[in-house]
Amino acid sequence: MLLYLRYALSFAALLLLTGVAMAFQSAPTEHCPALDASNAKQREALMDYACYLRVAPGEPAYNAGTPEELPDDAQWTSADGNDLVFSHTDAVYWIRLNVRNSGDARQLWYLKLSYPLLDKVAFWHSGIDGTSVTHTGDQYPFMSRGVDYRYFLLPVTLGGSENRAITIRIESSGALNVPLSLETPDAIIAQSNHLTLIHGLFYGALLVFSGFNLLLFFSSGTAYYFYNAFYMASLGLFLFAMGGFANQYFWPDSTAFANTSIPMLISVSSLAMTLFGRSFLEIRPGSRADRILRGLALASLGLFLMTFILPYNKSIVLTTTVALLIIGSLFLVGLIRWRQGYLPAKWYVLAWSGMLAGALIYALAAFGYLADFLAREIFMQVAVGAQVILLNYAMVQRWRLLNQKLLNAEQSARTNLELKVHERTAQLRNTMRELERANRQLATLSLNDALTGLHNRRHLDNLLPELCAESRRSSQPLTIALLDADHFKAVNDKWGHDFGDQCLQHIADILRRHAKRPRDVAIRFGGEEFALLLPGTGADGAGKLCEQILQDLASTSVVTGHGERVQLTMSAGTATLVSGEDQRELFRRADEALYRAKAAGRNRTEQSEPETC
Ligand code: GH3
Ligand code: MG
Ligand code: MG
Repeated sequence: MLLYLRYALSFAALLLLTGVAMAFQSAPTEHCPALDASNAKQREALMDYACYLRVAPGEPAYNAGTPEELPDDAQWTSADGNDLVFSHTDAVYWIRLNVRNSGDARQLWYLKLSYPLLDKVAFWHSGIDGTSVTHTGDQYPFMSRGVDYRYFLLPVTLGGSENRAITIRIESSGALNVPLSLETPDAIIAQSNHLTLIHGLFYGALLVFSGFNLLLFFSSGTAYYFYNAFYMASLGLFLFAMGGFANQYFWPDSTAFANTSIPMLISVSSLAMTLFGRSFLEIRPGSRADRILRGLALASLGLFLMTFILPYNKSIVLTTTVALLIIGSLFLVGLIRWRQGYLPAKWYVLAWSGMLAGALIYALAAFGYLADFLAREIFMQVAVGAQVILLNYAMVQRWRLLNQKLLNAEQSARTNLELKVHERTAQLRNTMRELERANRQLATLSLNDALTGLHNRRHLDNLLPELCAESRRSSQPLTIALLDADHFKAVNDKWGHDFGDQCLQHIADILRRHAKRPRDVAIRFGGEEFALLLPGTGADGAGKLCEQILQDLASTSVVTGHGERVQLTMSAGTATLVSGEDQRELFRRADEALYRAKAAGRNRTEQSEPETC
């Protein structure tokens, strides 16, 4: 970067050196040699033939309005081949050029003064037919120039061997450039054509870029597009005015505005470039750079208003100084932002270094410190054109960077979202698993008896109708056995309720042990009342099973807390499903059988006979 800076600086220095105007130290000459207009070489070396006279305010000749009013002893000085360039001056300049036509034919040439911003220019040319005069300049309506051209063109027609003396009086506030040339109409037309193409391309490109950025602003609402459009439009308008086009096309009749427009447009451009730079470089609000740029923007705004009241020669110096200060500051801020790692700043600095050199050279030329204003104008246009392209490229870079950031943010948001979704899904799955387990537990609890672990009454109610239907469908037998502990109240009464519970668990163990077929179901459906659902078991099988259970119970004992052995007995009643019967009927018959077993002395099994039998 430093190397690049060094290159840029030496380039600017070279330009400065080669263009520095010559000081006019030549000795006064008695008369100016006549230029042979028909000789192309002599025309090219016009400044070897021109003489000038500087009349400062206060000198007697200062008030001379015509060449005749000049004192006879006026000290004319030869231009000596140098361009007539005078930095800030309030003097009046007189220029004299003697021309002759060494040819035989009458011919037309144009004396061209290629600096469009002069306030008052008067041309006299005198020959055998007398003297004619043209008063023109910024302070006259544009049409006073005679020829509709942004520069001053004085037609010079010379007959064969005719001599003419051309005298020019120039009065202008601010700097003074008097680039003179004598050209044939063909050369003027050709040059004008080429320049028109260059200017058309340049201003056209600025207009298109500026319009495009304005459209981008309207569609995206992003401020820096607006600032870019504003910057390009104001800079374009400033150069347009400097090139004399604005006088020609925009305000041909407003003589008062011709001068004011220049500092005004400089301050507007300064404001625009500050706003654009601030927004493009994404200066952190409140930072030192931000405060400086804000200050400069305010200064530009203030100067813009001042141009209405300040005289031209003051406001032009002030606005140019502030503009150069702004260009320099933006260059530095751009460098800092680049060093901070903000990538688009690289392109900005690149664009701005051309602008820095261009503006400096252009300002020096405009203020009369550099000759060949036309070349500087082209140089400035190249610098601005390159800058516009680079800045727009930088904007694309900036857009790309933003887009990348956006894509990254979107990507990480999506990844985060996916992670969250995964997390939540896993959580949900866990919760559902827990819920299922809880449901299963609840279902088990709701269908099981808490004391014995056997199924409960609800399960009996659910299952019995199903088993009846299945038995009917499959013609497989279904038997229900109801078992009731004998004199259980007495057990409770004698050994307590807890011991009673222990006995009930003992009974449940025995039932579980005996009802061992996969589809057998043991149920405690009341206090000391149990049931066995025996699908696929007929009356005989069920009877035998009950006998075994009763025997098992009777042959075992439950030990009390005091070591007493208590023997329990049970009575059982069985019923086997018959066709046309429902679960209620089946249950009722089993209950009746149990009742009979109780009545018959307990500790026995009774089978229910189908009522039809
Ligand atoms: P029977 O031989 O006629 O069946 O006489 P029983 O005393 O067994 O019959 P009853 O229906 O008169 O009494 C049943 C008793 O069972 C009443 C109650 O003390 C006892 N009992 C009912 N449920 C429970 C229980 O959950 N735990 C305990 N410990 N005892 C219960
Ligand atoms: Mg009972
Ligand atoms: Mg009982």
